[in-house]
Amino acid sequence: MINLVLFGPPGAGKGTQAERIVEKYNLHHISTGDVFRANISAETELGKLAKSYMDQGQLVPDEVTIKMLISEVDKNPEAAGFIFDGFPRTKPQAAALDEILESKGTSISSMLALDVEEDELKDRLKKRAEVSGRADDADPEVIQKRIDVYKKETAPVKDFYSEQGKFTSINGMGSIDEITNRLFEALDKLS
Ligand code: ADP
Repeated sequence: MINLVLFGPPGAGKGTQAERIVEKYNLHHISTGDVFRANISAETELGKLAKSYMDQGQLVPDEVTIKMLISEVDKNPEAAGFIFDGFPRTKPQAAALDEILESKGTSISSMLALDVEEDELKDRLKKRAEVSGRADDADPEVIQKRIDVYKKETAPVKDFYSEQGKFTSINGMGSIDEITNRLFEALDKLS
């Protein structure tokens, strides 16, 4: 069983690349951002709560996010493995993920972290705003806030996996295909 954490700052291309990895390696994709957005569209209580943080470029509190993640994992007992996209984003989330997987007799195989320059991230998010309809992509101040939160709270999650010998940095600059090939190369070494 392969369980992957696909990591990187906002705009790094996690969603795009996750789709390609899912196709080739038959993993179940869990994107916490997508689950929150689905809840916002369905106007659930979780959606209302998540929206109040997301629109400000802040993280949804750990307790809420972890509970939601557990339920997504539990919904898919037949999965051959998972690709976690947008989770974990804090060290407590990373510790919780280890516990969840351990209780199921499995573990994270590897974190693949997309490395992208900040100017490029801002360019990509600006372009995505034209098609995504996402409020958090449309406002440059919110984009800056998300990048700042990433640096302060999320980037340290790399150390968590580094200490376990599971961290791999992937060059996230270049064309979508080039980046996919780098990810596939890293993945083929795991299986
Ligand atoms: P991006 O990586 O481009 O910012 P996502 O769709 O992954 O987009 O996340 C959008 C927003 O959803 C985040 O800015 C945050 O508010 C919320 N979110 C997603 N995943 C998490 C998480 N693991 N913990 C807390 N908040 C999260």
